Amino acid sequence: MKTKRNIIQIDEELCDGCGNCIVSCAEGALEIVDGKAKLVAEKYCDGLGACLGECPTGALKVIERDADDFDEEAVEHHLEATKKAEAPAEPAMACGCPSAQIRTFDAPTPCQRANEPVAQTSAQSALRHWPVQIRLVPPNAPFLKNADLLVAADCTPIAYPDFHRDFLEGKVVMVGCPKFDDAQGYIEKFAGIFTHASIKSVTVVAMEVPCCGGLPMIVRRGMQLAGKNIPMEQIIISTQGEVLRKEKLVA
Ligand code: SF4
Ligand code: SF4
Repeated sequence: MKTKRNIIQIDEELCDGCGNCIVSCAEGALEIVDGKAKLVAEKYCDGLGACLGECPTGALKVIERDADDFDEEAVEHHLEATKKAEAPAEPAMACGCPSAQIRTFDAPTPCQRANEPVAQTSAQSALRHWPVQIRLVPPNAPFLKNADLLVAADCTPIAYPDFHRDFLEGKVVMVGCPKFDDAQGYIEKFAGIFTHASIKSVTVVAMEVPCCGGLPMIVRRGMQLAGKNIPMEQIIISTQGEVLRKEKLVA
């Protein structure tokens, strides 16, 4: 039923598709479609405007107009359905795909390094565990305990050629895309990790493009939910593969 009530309004001219509002909307009422924020359904928006302060371009405001009533039960179903849709698929192969199998690898000893052919030593992998996808790493993975955590946007290791050497060495890494993945699921995943794993520090590496700006926010929200204040730094990479800036973040 339509009644006059407060509801979000999005100015598409101003919206740059950064996705910050998606992360800040606990009801899942907003999504990015063709690079612009859209209201999924009127009944999912409570009209309280939790997303307003997160919009860097002033594209959001709460207005009063005729709209479907806010429906808390519908929101719960919607969030549940989104979570299921985003859940990792079961291994498709009868033999069992090992993509989610938890493993750790030892670093080569100084002796092993010294005996490696020169051609191989120029590109050592700094990865010491598996899996690496945010959605596949369980909060209780043993390699997370007391770790320095590196959270990287999917595009960053492609854009930045010395990713292993400059960012990954000595860290546990989790990768994902704030634009295409389930932001709310990731917030809950990080909340679980920060609650259980005694993480020592967090470095977030994201691309300069606006849609990647949601990644630090996802990590921050997870930390806030866990009630932790772990030292956090963000590194922004240009599409040309340069470090544009490094800055400390506050949880
Ligand atoms: S927060 Fe970003 S995606 Fe959301 S309305 Fe503002 S500019 Fe658009
Ligand atoms: S640059 Fe865009 S597509 Fe790439 S990881 Fe960041 S949000 Fe995803």
